[in-house]
Amino acid sequence: MTYDPANIFARIVRGELPCHKVYEDEATLAFMDIMPQADCHTLIVPKDAGTGIVDTPVAALQAAIATTQKVAAAVKKATGAPGVMVVQLNGAEAGQTVFHLHFHVIPRWEGLQLKFHARGMEDPEVLKANAARVRAALG
Ligand code: 5GP
Repeated sequence: MTYDPANIFARIVRGELPCHKVYEDEATLAFMDIMPQADCHTLIVPKDAGTGIVDTPVAALQAAIATTQKVAAAVKKATGAPGVMVVQLNGAEAGQTVFHLHFHVIPRWEGLQLKFHARGMEDPEVLKANAARVRAALG
């Protein structure tokens, strides 16, 4: 698959579409998933991305995983979750739905089932409040 620069996350990175931002630096952006599988489900994208792990430059991957580590710590702190899941899907067959490499950070609690992947839009006010919680935890 070739990278489509009109994909949703590329448009968010360019500021053409809005997002509930939690973190940004020169190489990466982190924002709320609009169809979260748990409270404070956050996505991390490198700005210089390919569709997935195989075609994304190594430097961009390194920057993205460093941001993912920061965000994972902040999501744990913001939610008090004892566990955090980091997920990265490659290809439609693997469940990928947006073809700009990204990491998911999803807090986990024992016995609390995840909601379905990429289904069920969250209330924008909830996303706004959760982004503020994660930003505060990032310090
Ligand atoms: P993937 O299936 O590619 O691993 O994950 C894509 C994620 O992007 C899904 O969890 C989905 O809920 C989320 N998503 C889809 N469209 C948008 C959007 O326009 N904005 C944001 N913030 N998240 C989106």
